[in-house]
Amino acid sequence: MCRNERLFCRCGRNSASLLFRDNLLYPEILVNLYCPLCRDQAVWNGATMLRDCGWILEYDLEGAQALLQQSVKAAVTPEFLFDEGYLSWQGFSPGDLDLNTALHRRLAPLIEKDMPLYLQSLKTEWLKHVAELKAAGWRKAQAA
Ligand SMILES: [Zn+2]
Repeated sequence: MCRNERLFCRCGRNSASLLFRDNLLYPEILVNLYCPLCRDQAVWNGATMLRDCGWILEYDLEGAQALLQQSVKAAVTPEFLFDEGYLSWQGFSPGDLDLNTALHRRLAPLIEKDMPLYLQSLKTEWLKHVAELKAAGWRKAQAA
């Protein structure tokens, strides 16, 4: 079971949909979330932080280590927590969940008219979105 949660950044002007893989970590492990508008408030520390397209995630690594030690053998780093999805974007970027919801809503009228077209459109538009994220440099989209 994975949990999703929406957290606001430090300045409160943006929020991110976050994924908690296997429900092992909890939102407090993300000590700070900085959006592109408030990232200047962050004092960069590569040992606890991860940068992604103007956003900065700051983790409580000791807390994460304590919670993961039963189930995880690897060294717990910000990159590990992020890339393995233990505390990461839901999808490829902070707004992916919203975008996906909006996309389904926009295409929903097609469901009754033309199901194959609906499915094809969903797929095409989503892949286009992912390609854009990849080009923009979003970390999780690079492997997509
Ligand atoms: Zn902000």
